[in-house]
Amino acid sequence: MEYVTVDGVDVPALGFGTAGMDSEEERRRAITAALAAGYRHIDTAQMYDSESAVGDAVDDADVAREELFVTTKLSRNNRHETAVVESTHDSLDRLGMEYVDLLLIHSPEQDVPHEETLDAMNDLVDDGTVRHIGVSNFSVEQTRNAIEHSPAPILTNQVEYSLATHQPDLLPVCIEEDVLLTAYSPLKLGAALDDDSLEAIADTHGKTARQVAIRWLLQQPMVATIPRSSNPDHIERNADVFDFELSDEEMTRLFEIGGGIDEDLAARIGL
Ligand code: NDP
Repeated sequence: MEYVTVDGVDVPALGFGTAGMDSEEERRRAITAALAAGYRHIDTAQMYDSESAVGDAVDDADVAREELFVTTKLSRNNRHETAVVESTHDSLDRLGMEYVDLLLIHSPEQDVPHEETLDAMNDLVDDGTVRHIGVSNFSVEQTRNAIEHSPAPILTNQVEYSLATHQPDLLPVCIEEDVLLTAYSPLKLGAALDDDSLEAIADTHGKTARQVAIRWLLQQPMVATIPRSSNPDHIERNADVFDFELSDEEMTRLFEIGGGIDEDLAARIGL
């Protein structure tokens, strides 16, 4: 496993997503397979109904809690101060854990001012319920405001990022501000999956197009990703991405699939 170091915190660069699975049994089987395949970063949320499956799978697995990095997210109706605290404790009950590594505001709707939610999240950091906090689906401006307001560092902004969906404005800010960009839906590739150069690069390395799509994310500074699968073969294959390296030319060509990369970002990425 590779790690991304953010504010001195080592976050496993590859995590496992748990949204969108149909049943408790499917979730539990998938998360168990992910832990067996070596994933040590698990992404859940109050709205995914997957927290108890994460807890059950971790209980069944032979993995120490300290080795795991577990993220959950506050649902939209849990943004008031008391709801932040109570719902996070409910999450911990479902997870069967004493703390979560990372608690995120799931999305930026402003039913409750972000400042109120962030203040309550900071209290949870102070009392050890939560190790770190962050946001999800925040714009550049919302991310900057959160950084400015929160005494605890904003560890991540979790957003959609893949070969098909770029983040040309947010990624430079994340690199500059030492905020992890956690790439969700990394395999939602649409037509990009059939791109000839993606297939050619995959062939060169003896890998699949999806493995290259994951590797492309992991070779960027301040980027982690959390692919999801219910299929044990896919779960293993998606984690088998640490024994090859994409060249700068391949990275650039892969950026071109989703519309290219500007000079400033290319320089920050080292291309
Ligand atoms: P992904 O991009 O991870 O894609 C999942 C899909 O890809 C599934 O249909 C899966 O099918 C398929 N797949 C996975 N691996 C392979 C493979 N090797 N070969 C073929 N097909 C494959 O989608 P998600 O949208 O689920 O994103 C990942 C995670 O990100 C979520 O589970 C969630 O944790 C998080 N997320 C966060 C959001 C937020 O607002 N913060 C929003 C959306 C997602 P199969 O099961 O058959 O393998």
